[in-house]
Amino acid sequence: MKVLKFGGTSVGSSKNINKIIEIVKTNQEEKQIIVVSAFAKVTNLLLEAAQLASIKKTAYTSVIEDIKTIHNQIISDLFTEKDKNEVLKFVNVKLADLKSILDSISLISELSAKSEANIVSHGELLSSFVIAKALQVNHIDAERKDTRELILTNTNYTNASVNFEVSNRQIQDYFKSNKTKVTVLPGFISSAENGDTTVLGRGGSDYTAAIVASALDADVLEIWTDVSGMFTANPNVVPQAMPIEQISYEEAMELSHFGAKVIYPPTIHPVLKKEIPIRIKNTLKPEDAGTLITKTSKDKKNPVKGISHIDDVTLITLEGSGMVGIPGFSKRLFETLATEKINVKLITQASSEHSICIGIDDSNANLAKIAIDSTFEFEILKNKIKPLQIEKNLSIIAIVGDHMKSHQGISGKMFGTLGKNNVNIRAIAQGASEKNISAVIAAKDVKKGINSLHESFFKNNNKQLNLFITGVGNVGAKLIEQIEQQHEFLLNNLNINIRIVGLSNSRQMIFNDEGINLSSWKEQLNNGSQATLEGFLEQVKALNLRNSVFVDITANAKVADMYAKYLKNSTAVVACNKIASSATYKKYKELKELSRSYDVPYFFETNVGAGLPIIDTLNNLITSGDQVHKIQAVLSGSLNFIFNNFTTETEFYDVVKQAQLEGYTEPDPRIDLSGVDVARKILILARESGIKINLEDIENDSFLTENNHKADSVDDFYNSLKTDANHFKELLKSANSNNCQLKYVAELINGKAKVGLKEIPVGHPFYNLEGKDNIVMFYTKRYPEQPMIIKGAGAGADVTASGLFADIIKIANN
Ligand code: ADP
Ligand code: ASP
Ligand code: MG
Repeated sequence: MKVLKFGGTSVGSSKNINKIIEIVKTNQEEKQIIVVSAFAKVTNLLLEAAQLASIKKTAYTSVIEDIKTIHNQIISDLFTEKDKNEVLKFVNVKLADLKSILDSISLISELSAKSEANIVSHGELLSSFVIAKALQVNHIDAERKDTRELILTNTNYTNASVNFEVSNRQIQDYFKSNKTKVTVLPGFISSAENGDTTVLGRGGSDYTAAIVASALDADVLEIWTDVSGMFTANPNVVPQAMPIEQISYEEAMELSHFGAKVIYPPTIHPVLKKEIPIRIKNTLKPEDAGTLITKTSKDKKNPVKGISHIDDVTLITLEGSGMVGIPGFSKRLFETLATEKINVKLITQASSEHSICIGIDDSNANLAKIAIDSTFEFEILKNKIKPLQIEKNLSIIAIVGDHMKSHQGISGKMFGTLGKNNVNIRAIAQGASEKNISAVIAAKDVKKGINSLHESFFKNNNKQLNLFITGVGNVGAKLIEQIEQQHEFLLNNLNINIRIVGLSNSRQMIFNDEGINLSSWKEQLNNGSQATLEGFLEQVKALNLRNSVFVDITANAKVADMYAKYLKNSTAVVACNKIASSATYKKYKELKELSRSYDVPYFFETNVGAGLPIIDTLNNLITSGDQVHKIQAVLSGSLNFIFNNFTTETEFYDVVKQAQLEGYTEPDPRIDLSGVDVARKILILARESGIKINLEDIENDSFLTENNHKADSVDDFYNSLKTDANHFKELLKSANSNNCQLKYVAELINGKAKVGLKEIPVGHPFYNLEGKDNIVMFYTKRYPEQPMIIKGAGAGADVTASGLFADIIKIANN
């Protein structure tokens, strides 16, 4: 024998009811008990009508009309004219009965729990009648039985407790003599000893089905709903959640207690004792496997089975030195909560016994405050304990799995993941059985928290990376192009879902938390809102997305000033802007330390050698214990381009102009030609080698003339290059006569750095350096004579963008 329960959405339309008929037909050889919920939305409408009537709002009559419309629609779709009348008659009688109850509530302006239970029972009474009739007209041997005659409860009307002894007997007696193939039962409803209607709590139809399955020793309890099983997390919150194939009773119970609404928490208990398997199935997709719930959890490889959450949580904290070592405080506290019928969701107690912290529903917060402060009135007066502290707008998130106890590091991973994403934890609870670890966090962080936990515990998940890019010049545009092009590849091969969520230039900014459509980013940006640096940061904070990365592709000092704020918000920073890492040592150190203390990446590989892996290599050498003795490098793609193209046939002035036109120099070529840009780069390499150094400490042996230095605009500077053309010709002549090449070289030797133009002799690794290439030679303890050499294109939008991209991917793999 099978018990099948069909939930609200499964019975929400004639199409879905036809699905139920098909499902019932495929099982016809065995006895089936069908437990049904009210039609979708009807329970909520009934409660709304009751509420309206209790405050004398006549709108309850139109709510009854809405309920009527829902039923009439389904009935007219399901039945022929001939069969319809009997069903409509039943519905009309029930709705008239409902109206008279609501009229009397409106008259006395009072809604008792008893009346509420009576009103809300109408949903299941109606749906079960309609469905039983629909089965009959489809030639199925079906009849309906009122569950109020089977399930006996106490008089806690809206959340009644079941008397199992009597209920089991009544159920067994009824079915012993009943030979009908299919019995339809209204879920949720029951009755008290005095005959009053009671209900089993919201979502209680699952429980009805479990009670019946257990009483009759059913072979299986099937819960048919609108999703294909119990998912690894609420699919409405975590799009990547997937159905769990098999799970133990205890795991399912923990998940449902912590908010997995797909099954009503008390449901498991009656079937667990008899080890009746539960299967959760999708009415709309009966072919999907769904979830099987049995005694033990079979999958030991994945210790975390699911993640769930409860919203609307308040933390109450009772604290004070007067609590230490004195027995009875907790007893009085919990007794007070029990007397007020306040349900406890989570408890933690500091080992010093100084404080006890309890999670309850937001709606009970004020009641708890009044009741507990009154219980401890004397101790509060004597300053032994503080008045109850209340913190609202919180949520509990929990990870669940029977096998978590035999795996180390799970809680570390949970809290590490939350910490990395700037999710602050207010309280933690872990049962000694270690089937569940739960944390209380701010409600606003739930979506981010659950999604990031899901990414870290379910490995075949895609990791979502949310980029906020500022600066969309040559390099920025290239980066966007590369991201668009690589999106599919990264998703399919590395499980990285990279999205650009925010984009700005100095004038406009745009955001889309679903990811900006990159095919039209330029138009969208043109129509964006006015950009400000603080406004951009505020949006990053407000969107509160996991794995957020701020990408600075400007050369702007004010943008660099924002990094600290991003890092403090646990937003990673990737910069090709050199200003921050070449600012004062104090500033550089502060950012490095923020990155460490917030455990959030700050990468700036492209500050030196564009896309070449120079900083990364240096970091790897240092972290693996190597020591840098000497660095020699050509670090300016622009200066290399200039000196490679400067020959006896060309003018220095023209070559500089050409370099600027081709985009190899900074917008102001003086930054390159004065050596400042190279000095900044060797400064960064020196700092990354562990040396405390500032820009002023770097010796700059300039090859420019006094005239060049004096120029106070870019135009002036070009004019001075023209006027002093001979000076440059002389530099070249000298090099040629010594059989040398001119190269602008940066050096770091024993902690001292300098930059300057050098004549490089034939045979030196720098001699043949072409085009805009860079080269770096690291002489270290492990590479003492033959240096480690990195060489390649050191400038250009494409390679710089790919360097930024590499930093971004490094974050994804972090
Ligand atoms: P029914 O009306 O069939 O009783 P419910 O609405 O009570 O259905 O429960 C099913 C819903 O539970 C799903 O549509 C989904 O939105 C929600 N849900 C929350 N957590 C989970 C989870 N972990 N797995 C599956 N569904 C979940
Ligand atoms: N109809 C009731 C509710 O919506 C019971 C149920 O659907 O399980 O809570
Ligand atoms: Mg339900």
